[in-house]
Amino acid sequence: MANQETIVALATATGSGAIAIIRVSGTDAIAIVNRVFRGKDLSQQSTHTVHFGTIRDGDEVLDEVLVSLFVGPNSYTGENVVELSTHNSRYIIERIIQLLVSGGARAAQPGEFTLRAFLNGKMDLSQAEAVADLIASNSAASHQVAMQQMRGGFSNLLKQLREQLIHFASLIELELDFSEEDVEFANREQLKSLVLEINTVVRRLITSFEQGNVLKNGVPVVIAGKPNVGKSTLLNSLLNEERAIVSDIAGTTRDTIEDEINIHGVSFRFIDTAGIRDTMDIIEAKGVERTREKMRQARLIIYLADPQQDDVDEIDSQIAEVAALGVPYVVVVNKTDLLTQTHREALANIKPLFISAKNNVGVEELKDELLRKVNLHNLDSDDVLVTNIRHVAALRKTSESLGKVLDGIDNPVTSDFLAMDIRQALHHLGEITGSVSTDDLLDNIFSKFCIGK
Ligand code: GDP
Repeated sequence: MANQETIVALATATGSGAIAIIRVSGTDAIAIVNRVFRGKDLSQQSTHTVHFGTIRDGDEVLDEVLVSLFVGPNSYTGENVVELSTHNSRYIIERIIQLLVSGGARAAQPGEFTLRAFLNGKMDLSQAEAVADLIASNSAASHQVAMQQMRGGFSNLLKQLREQLIHFASLIELELDFSEEDVEFANREQLKSLVLEINTVVRRLITSFEQGNVLKNGVPVVIAGKPNVGKSTLLNSLLNEERAIVSDIAGTTRDTIEDEINIHGVSFRFIDTAGIRDTMDIIEAKGVERTREKMRQARLIIYLADPQQDDVDEIDSQIAEVAALGVPYVVVVNKTDLLTQTHREALANIKPLFISAKNNVGVEELKDELLRKVNLHNLDSDDVLVTNIRHVAALRKTSESLGKVLDGIDNPVTSDFLAMDIRQALHHLGEITGSVSTDDLLDNIFSKFCIGK
């Protein structure tokens, strides 16, 4: 372990709550805390133990605390780590942090604890990124993919692929040393089948992004339909129940879920609900590209019709327009309370879902249908899903390089070109796990973390 500056930050969220945790990490973490802690001598205690005592600034007692001790390298960051559980008062927290800073620690940068964990080999880059995802996860599905990634499912798979490829790269590079003699250490047929195999896995990972992204960020949904068919009413009806559930939990922030609903663990996000009226007019304002674009971004469209307003032919032609966008859609007829038998018969061919948004009739069935449409049920808990746009970009570049390797085998190029393309593929794979990383990349990733993570 290199000698590391000791950093300190509040690790829990600010706001009300009984307890706060202040995290200290670095070579001198234990010594710095020990100087202001009255209780057992922390320098004499074993790792993974908890100690009660007080924190003192001179003679003044700032708080009674519990100290959790982790002696490096067996800690989150790999360094000596001390976590102080204090009473959650802003005043206490600020005083203790100041005290530790005057004792030789410095305030941590955003994500610096996790950055150190990465630099000390406690986790690879994709696992470190999963920590942020895990903290941000707000549904069973997003939690599951983040947890899977943090525990290394994704990295293990990539590691195996890289190792196999490195083996071939080194054989080919060996050929370069014997270039005069025209020998082939790397069997081209074997190399080809390995590259094909790896490319299949890489492509599968790229494809999994669509699903992974949806699980992580929610399924983007648009409610489409003419003005006054009941779009806002339906949205409210979908969201209301959710709000009621959530507002029962004291202290939860409701803002973030204002336009999200959670159906059996999958979150559905309603796109641009503020502008939903505009979006809805899309069907009328044919050819308005901007609104069409919005709908194309959706993973699912709820097309809402009101037979009081439009006859079946009109509804049919609107459905055709929605279908032309190529996005899965659900046809829903609203205001069933006003529906006559004639209406129902006229609409029978369309096989819509009948609801009354205002009276909350059929809304549960609609939710089930939404879930069916996104087709996520065959998700296995062991499936490796890519959820990160940075990873999918690196995988695409990997696949491109692998394509060049294959070309190079089929239309034989010299070993040095082949080696270059393999190295390129390895480089892109390494970008994901961080075996290849630059300061800029690390800055970019960890600066998005909060301080204390
Ligand atoms: P939007 O323009 O598509 O967002 O439509 P709104 O949600 O504003 O609804 C237009 C009107 O239809 C409002 O007066 C609603 O109360 C009414 N409405 C919505 N759903 C129903 C329903 O299920 N039955 C009846 N009778 N009226 C409804």
